[in-house]
Amino acid sequence: PSAIPNASGATPAMAQWFAAKQAHPDALVFFRMGDFFEMFFADAITAGEALGLAVSHRGEHGGQPVPMAGVPVHAMEAYLARLIRRGFRVAICEQMETPEAAKARKAPAVRREVVRIVTPATVTEESLLEGARPSWLLALAPEGAARVGAAWLDVSTGHVCTESLPTEELGALLARLDPAEVVAPEALAAGDALTPLGGMVREATPPRDGARLAAEAWGVASLAAFGAFTDGETNALAMALDYVRGASGGTLPRLAPPEARGGEGTLRMDAATRRSLEILKAERGGKDCLLGAVDRTLTAAGARELAARLAAPLAEGAPIAARHDAVSFLLAADSVRAALRDALKGAPDMARALGRLSVERFFPRDLASLRDGLARAEAMQAAFGDAAGVPPIPPLLVQAGEALVPANSPRGELARALAEDLPARLEDGGVIGPGYDGELDALRRLRDDARGAILALQLDLAQAWGVASLKIRHHQQLGFLAEVPAAAGEALLRQKPAPGPMAPVHRQSMANAHRFTCGALTDLDRKLSQARDEAARREALVVRHLRKLCLDAAPGIAAAARAVAEIDVHAASAELAAGGGWCRPEMPDRPDFCVTQGRHPVVEAALRRNRGPAFVPNDADLSPGRRLCLLTGPNMAGKSTYLRQNALMVVLAQAGLYIPAEAARIGLVDRLFSRVGTADDIAGGRSTFMVEMSETAAVLNQAGPRSFVVLDEVGRGTATWDGLAIAWAVLEALHDRLRSRTLFATHFHELTALAGKLPELAPAAMKVREHRGQVVFQHLVGPGASERSWGLHVARLAGVPREVVARAEVVLASLEERARGLDPLSGELPLFAAPGAHKPAQGQPQGEPDPLRTALEALDPDAMAPREALEALYRLKSML
Ligand code: ADP
Repeated sequence: PSAIPNASGATPAMAQWFAAKQAHPDALVFFRMGDFFEMFFADAITAGEALGLAVSHRGEHGGQPVPMAGVPVHAMEAYLARLIRRGFRVAICEQMETPEAAKARKAPAVRREVVRIVTPATVTEESLLEGARPSWLLALAPEGAARVGAAWLDVSTGHVCTESLPTEELGALLARLDPAEVVAPEALAAGDALTPLGGMVREATPPRDGARLAAEAWGVASLAAFGAFTDGETNALAMALDYVRGASGGTLPRLAPPEARGGEGTLRMDAATRRSLEILKAERGGKDCLLGAVDRTLTAAGARELAARLAAPLAEGAPIAARHDAVSFLLAADSVRAALRDALKGAPDMARALGRLSVERFFPRDLASLRDGLARAEAMQAAFGDAAGVPPIPPLLVQAGEALVPANSPRGELARALAEDLPARLEDGGVIGPGYDGELDALRRLRDDARGAILALQLDLAQAWGVASLKIRHHQQLGFLAEVPAAAGEALLRQKPAPGPMAPVHRQSMANAHRFTCGALTDLDRKLSQARDEAARREALVVRHLRKLCLDAAPGIAAAARAVAEIDVHAASAELAAGGGWCRPEMPDRPDFCVTQGRHPVVEAALRRNRGPAFVPNDADLSPGRRLCLLTGPNMAGKSTYLRQNALMVVLAQAGLYIPAEAARIGLVDRLFSRVGTADDIAGGRSTFMVEMSETAAVLNQAGPRSFVVLDEVGRGTATWDGLAIAWAVLEALHDRLRSRTLFATHFHELTALAGKLPELAPAAMKVREHRGQVVFQHLVGPGASERSWGLHVARLAGVPREVVARAEVVLASLEERARGLDPLSGELPLFAAPGAHKPAQGQPQGEPDPLRTALEALDPDAMAPREALEALYRLKSML
């Protein structure tokens, strides 16, 4: 939103708008005017564009017409949803009194106030949230020179976590959380990690005494009650709380005690790795992700929990084993799993219903969600009861099972109180059913009596006034009126009625009817509206009481909601495994990696969906002694699928899930790196090769003996010799220095020469067959190096003219002939030689450069069009 016009000379209502805009310059102001929320000036233009609204004009300001666009109040949520999805913030400026009240106090305009700022990360409405995704607000505060304190919270569920991390790992944290909004001081907001988030970042200054502010918010003397928090973490917490408070008119939602994560217990993955593995979302070009392929959860909370586990797999053996124990139990106990999944199907989202109750922006169905959710949880607990005996229920499920039913569960109370058919909104009335509150029932009886009396009066009046067709109708402003046809009305008007409660008093004439009232009707009208108001007041009181019951039990309900989500995830993994082809990985605490008949769950699912060929499973063995696998093979043979599938095994296994293989032994991994296919992205104007190299650098600077690395085509982004040299050196570093378990795919066949030099390097190749002059990819990984280049076959398949391919074959043969002289193992390339020991090519006198070599060196294949390349080949050949 651009500059705000000068407010002077504004009408009283517009003056209120100016005040609201001044206080919230970076938000669109939704200004309540009767049944509409209106936007003015630049807001109207911006929102008009974003929402496709017609922009009209209303009055003038400073001699100029004022642009205006509006949305009806009843449809506001749908418009808000679209605005916040596009990163806008919206300040809701409400009418705080009725026009009558304003008139009564002789005010020039209805009083209006900004009651709330709607922002992507502070909404709680169902329609504004994505069910299967957490909605994180992330706050960041610097901590010394090289670290950041991070705090993230989900207002919709009350979940709060913190972590202190080195500044350079900020990108990884952002990739892991994928926050809806970030609050950060200017210096961080302008940094490399946050700039790409653009409009999602809000600037704020970290407080000096975050620890005190945060402790106050949770009502404890010190946050130490919940764990060890660094200054950065507490400052970030305070910033997040402050932001939420500012957005919701000063109040805070219910928040669970913060969890200090420390990040130590989780598998480290940087942003590039997550992108490359497409864990929670597909990247450009793809449409499926890991989560989508393995998700068999039945509830939104379960889907969120699964996503959280895949985004932050564990790194310690015991908690991983505990999760595997839970899955294994539910896999074996078919009937328990079936009973649990029956109860889970359609179970409501208790955590988010509780969140809405806590901010007082709730709906009758939120109360019903708690009632039904708690009932489902009880049914789940019963399912475990039936399973008592052999095999024993593993501890994680025992704990979750106990948490399912909170000590002071409001379920019974809600079940008794809530009406069978709930209205959509609290104001509609009828939330509380009969028989729960005696006083409410009595008031409703009064109301109904008055209604009945009005019906009875209709008959009496018809008789007394002699108009059989008389109808009592309710009128918005005038209340109940007796309506009679025009002719009968004229007659009544001419009569001189006898005074008394039934004497007609004329109120309104219309074209074909007249409306009357009388003492008796006015009386009943007043009684009815009094009874209605009192019943509504009483009902609101009862609802408030129920809300309090729920909030008093909030920690227990939140724990039950968590337990439901956790059980959903375990049962979902068991359900997936029950279909066959999934196994529990063995997870020793040593750098092992041995997968038998592993598959890529996403590619497999896609092939199945498209009725393609069956997925070909492959083994992988990176056990000590053969930690580095050098994979060669032509394009499209399945190299990157194989690389990714093995990295995904680590993610799934350490998330505590079963994996798509026959058997597996996966030693715990501390950091996972995947550089497959990502170098194709040109990020922030850096050249592809620069991106590739900086991502490779990140691996070389961070990987260690407990890490797992998959690298695809290192060095492809530059000229051949450069690229080969870099790939060669990277491979050596991984082998000798970092000692990570590594899968390294390359099209540099020359690298296979390293097999003999690096003892732990095991070459492997994608098997390819030739069938009637066609290339057949078998997608099978076998030992040894790929035999030959299949580029020419692919060229033929792609329809390159026959004579060109034939010519290329001749050129290739002669190049291969020459290259034999350059065989690295023969010592002609300086790959194993000490610096300076470079020998010139055979047959060349010392000191005289080989002209062919010089010409070759001058070539830059990356800069050449295919045609130029071909011409260069001819030229080179002619120099022989
Ligand atoms: P490369 O990285 O060698 O160019 P990809 O891994 O991208 O090849 O695989 C190319 C295509 O081959 C995939 O899209 C998939 O359809 C198919 N494919 C790969 N691996 C397998 C496999 N193991 N079984 C069946 N099809 C596969």
